[in-house]
Amino acid sequence: MRKDMIAGNWKMNATHLDAIQMVQKLSYRLNDPDYERVEVVVHPPFTALRSAQTVIETDHLRIKLGAQNCHYAESGAYTGEISPGMLSKLSVSYVIVGHSERRHVFGEVDADINRKVKAVFETGMVPILAVGETEQERADGLTEEIVRGHFVAGTSGLTQDQVSSLVVAYEPVWAIGTGKTATPEDAGAVCSFIRDLAAGSFGGSADHMRILYGGSVNPGNVAAIMAKKDIDGALVGGASLDPDTFASVIRYWV
Ligand code: PEP
Repeated sequence: MRKDMIAGNWKMNATHLDAIQMVQKLSYRLNDPDYERVEVVVHPPFTALRSAQTVIETDHLRIKLGAQNCHYAESGAYTGEISPGMLSKLSVSYVIVGHSERRHVFGEVDADINRKVKAVFETGMVPILAVGETEQERADGLTEEIVRGHFVAGTSGLTQDQVSSLVVAYEPVWAIGTGKTATPEDAGAVCSFIRDLAAGSFGGSADHMRILYGGSVNPGNVAAIMAKKDIDGALVGGASLDPDTFASVIRYWV
């Protein structure tokens, strides 16, 4: 049985002081046993992780901590980078790897993304591997080819156990931050395609691997998306910045 997961990607928003307030407000909204069916993760910027960790640990909150990126090396001459070990020491549980903004704005390629996925696992955390096609690729009928390429390259060399705990986020690039959402049918079909791919390479581990949809998820569209059998949660950008709105996304069944 796969547990629902709703993860909030704050991107380059929120100082460490904002983060304290956002996490506290979110936890008040989640103070209801109903929410326990969902694993809730927040991904603040690096500079806010320590503050968010302190609030979560001091107040024993149910919220998990995630990072938005990391380097694949453990230490060394990589000016400006953050290693997986630095994140795990801050009680980070999940790291987004291969987000489309990393791929398209910062030029990350599949080989680096695969090294990051492995490094995150080796440090005892879980990667959220983001995959997805651009608008042009979709128009050209290349959605499955692109998603297959991202998934196969990103998971190369993983063990079946690792794939069981892996989280994949299907995020069509044209739906991120644009207000355009894939229809639940289209999103569900691509997520089923990803699970079939995983089953082909990693057997029964595919049944345990969680697949999130991301791309302009909000309180109004989340229920229909979550109803799809191969969608286990959502990766939420803009709608995760306001704790009230994010809590409504998390409580998608109401
Ligand atoms: C994201 O940042 O991964 C994302 C899906 O953003 P948004 O929800 O704003 O489209």
